[in-house]
Amino acid sequence: MADITNQSLNEIIENVKTKKVSSTELTKAYVKNIESAKKLNAFVTTTFDQALDKAKQFDNKPNFDQLLPGIPLAVKDLFCTENTKTTAGSNILNNFIPSYESTVTKNLWDHGSFLLGKLNCDEFAMGSSNETSHYGNVINPVGDQLVPGGSSGGSSSALAADLTPATIGTDTGGSIRQPASFTGTVGLKPTYGLCSRWGIVAFASSLDQAGPMTKTIQDCAIMLEAMSGFDKKDSTSINKKEEQYSKNLKDNIKGLKIGIPKEYRVDNMPKEVDELWEKGKKILKDLGAQLIDISLPHTKYALPTYYIVAPAEASSNLARYDGVRYGYRSKQGKDLIEMYEKTRSEGFGDEVKRRILIGTYVLSSGYYDAYYLKAQKVRQLIKKDFDDSFKKIDAILTPSTPSSAFKIGEKTNDPVSMYLNDIFTVPVNLAGLPALSMPAGVDNKGHPLGLQLIGKALDEQKILNIGYAFEKNCCFRNKIKKWWS
Ligand code: GLN
Repeated sequence: MADITNQSLNEIIENVKTKKVSSTELTKAYVKNIESAKKLNAFVTTTFDQALDKAKQFDNKPNFDQLLPGIPLAVKDLFCTENTKTTAGSNILNNFIPSYESTVTKNLWDHGSFLLGKLNCDEFAMGSSNETSHYGNVINPVGDQLVPGGSSGGSSSALAADLTPATIGTDTGGSIRQPASFTGTVGLKPTYGLCSRWGIVAFASSLDQAGPMTKTIQDCAIMLEAMSGFDKKDSTSINKKEEQYSKNLKDNIKGLKIGIPKEYRVDNMPKEVDELWEKGKKILKDLGAQLIDISLPHTKYALPTYYIVAPAEASSNLARYDGVRYGYRSKQGKDLIEMYEKTRSEGFGDEVKRRILIGTYVLSSGYYDAYYLKAQKVRQLIKKDFDDSFKKIDAILTPSTPSSAFKIGEKTNDPVSMYLNDIFTVPVNLAGLPALSMPAGVDNKGHPLGLQLIGKALDEQKILNIGYAFEKNCCFRNKIKKWWS
């Protein structure tokens, strides 16, 4: 058989079900790929022995009725995994071995899959390039000088390099969709509350959402189906009937109304991004969708609002890392206060410290009303723009990112230019809506670019259907030369 790892998750599942490949053969093939791809630095931890054991157990007693039968999966190192180190890309958690499993990963294992390893990410998921990780930057398989996006950069890199058949990331301001766009893969940020946050290392709790990262839209539907669902351990989890996204996937989008927001055409956007957007519009129109110009007037405030709300919540969430309860503890402090100080200054990297400083400032008395409270009000206006538009449309089409993958080191000394990467992705998190990034083409350097589909709350099926129809007609295939092995 041809390379068994170079296929979609759906094809791999079919191969397992029809016994063309065993779970053990599959797992061994991924282990081999991972071992020859150390240069990419996509993994923080591998769990090969455990994975091979699980594969053997599956092969001895297969259950082909599961959604993910005998499928090994690597996941972002932000998901707590029982008895397996979980670092969140930080030095402060370099010795943290959770005694519990996140709900989302447990859901995946309950559907027949098992853990292959933990994927590198920006420290506490703060970043757009995977350069803030304590465990080193990750390389984009598209090119050895390129970032894989962030914060789920280990996930996007591993997926694009065939080191895992599918994966999961988290998206607080774009961390699934932006790395998907940079690597020519599919990434979905679900509606806030669709996937449980329980057991995920918290960044900004009112924005964080877990979601699938896959090679195809169908794979994305399979993974979403497996990982989502109500969880009483997360007070923001939505209690609703579970959906069969993959079974209900349809490619007929005739008559659907697609909104095109004028505010997503920004200054200095490369010509190719604009052209790609035009191409996307044409494809959807040719498939029978109706394009409707819309306005989301508060979009320009989304980035500043996000960079107040997210650091504020982060500064509160990260207060728990004090060297006492768990994680890294400095040996330097002479007394308790000094131990706290040294632990936090040695344990956190620069970007995390920057966010804690900003967050603490905007929450401080005297500045709270001017910054945090104001940001919460603007957040409501951003949400209202979407609500008003969705009265007349089914979904929104925009570029996923203002550029393709940039070079390693290009933006590390300029946080604001790094933050500008999130310009098209953060509004969706602030409004709690689902959004999908799908590969749509390449720029003049041959680097992938994605288009984003935004849906109404809980309308994942519709954006998956539009993506499915788009994928069939766009004819874009991500071609990556395996230069690293
Ligand atoms: N790049 C954004 C940030 O640095 C988003 C990160 C994320 O979605 N986790 O905050």
